[in-house]
Amino acid sequence: MAVKFKDYYEVLGVKRDATDGQIRQAYRKLARKHHPDVNPGDKVAEDKFKEINEANEVLSDPEKRKRYDQLGPNWQNGAEFTPPPGWGRVNVQFDDLGSIFSGGGFSEFFETLFGGAKPTGQSEHRRRGARTRSGRGQDAEAEMEISLEDAHGGGRHRITLQGTRACAACGGKGTTTSGVVCPTCRGAGQVLSPKTIDVNIPPAAREGSVIKVGQHGQPGTSEPGDLYIKLKIKPHSIFTVSGDDITAEVPVSPSEAVLGTTIEVPTIDGKAEMKIPAGAQGGQRLRLRGQGLNRRGGGRGDQYVRLKVVVPTHPTDREKQLYRDLGEASHFDPRAGLEK
Ligand SMILES: [Zn+2]
Repeated sequence: MAVKFKDYYEVLGVKRDATDGQIRQAYRKLARKHHPDVNPGDKVAEDKFKEINEANEVLSDPEKRKRYDQLGPNWQNGAEFTPPPGWGRVNVQFDDLGSIFSGGGFSEFFETLFGGAKPTGQSEHRRRGARTRSGRGQDAEAEMEISLEDAHGGGRHRITLQGTRACAACGGKGTTTSGVVCPTCRGAGQVLSPKTIDVNIPPAAREGSVIKVGQHGQPGTSEPGDLYIKLKIKPHSIFTVSGDDITAEVPVSPSEAVLGTTIEVPTIDGKAEMKIPAGAQGGQRLRLRGQGLNRRGGGRGDQYVRLKVVVPTHPTDREKQLYRDLGEASHFDPRAGLEK
């Protein structure tokens, strides 16, 4: 999906090689000017303020800035942007600007680059299940990308959640003792506070599986809500998945297909020997029973190997001569079936 590219350097009015100090200074100056408290009811100022905060969120964080800079300097603000192939999400962000603003937090562009998980009001899980105790924080939902290997065998993933905590500078009140807007939290009473948690992925996970991580949702007065992490499985370089079964396309040479052989094929756990029958055809599917994905209740799906007959692109003179001899000696007519 294409989103509008955001030139965060342009938003803050700084050069691409600006120092952390210059970025901080530019941000503070613009934030003061466009703060909603100074411009009550001014939608344009509010949007501008949001944009400034988003730019600062990226450029003031070395990791995010590095990632952003990887896109290169040639993008125009507002250009149609699609992330480069292989651009995976590195972490999960909780958009907490929603608490400061009337509508929405980070842009689609931001969420495309850094992942996005908006704390939802009442999550589906909550509605379905447990009773809400008063003082308990809201449940949160996030998405995490894992490898097919981890979905199959289980694993452990570290993710960074962008949570919030009470602002220490103003004690969470949003104003200083002299009554002015707290410069640290910009009046929100809260500041961003990233936290890292380890998530255990059980074996036999699937696309869309949801993992519950207790007490890592939104903070509450008595206890935090829960975090529900929805799994996405990254496309695999070798296997495609269909339910519990996986399929790999495996190339064979013309002579291997004609004469039959035993080859080594990749499996989700490593490698396996596979017998290719004589006269095997391109596109033919062979099964490795019980070598597919782990099933939730035990057992495994199957692996399929789809044969692809490939020919040498740069045959040697000797190979060419042998193919010529073969062509003359052979009575094989591959198009016999097409004759009327
Ligand atoms: Zn504060």
